[in-house]
Amino acid sequence: MTQCPECEATVESRAMVLGEIFPCQDCGTELEVTGSVPFTVQPAPKEAEDWGE
Ligand SMILES: [Zn+2]
Repeated sequence: MTQCPECEATVESRAMVLGEIFPCQDCGTELEVTGSVPFTVQPAPKEAEDWGE
């Protein structure tokens, strides 16, 4: 099982694609899908970061 890195709530693996950002159902933290097999997530940046133009 994958857990939310912020609140450790179980994150269900759905049909998600790499890089998809979704909110944790429990704490609302935005999570980014970083892997599909196994399903892994990491906190997504809360603000759009400026990567430089
Ligand atoms: Zn959470």
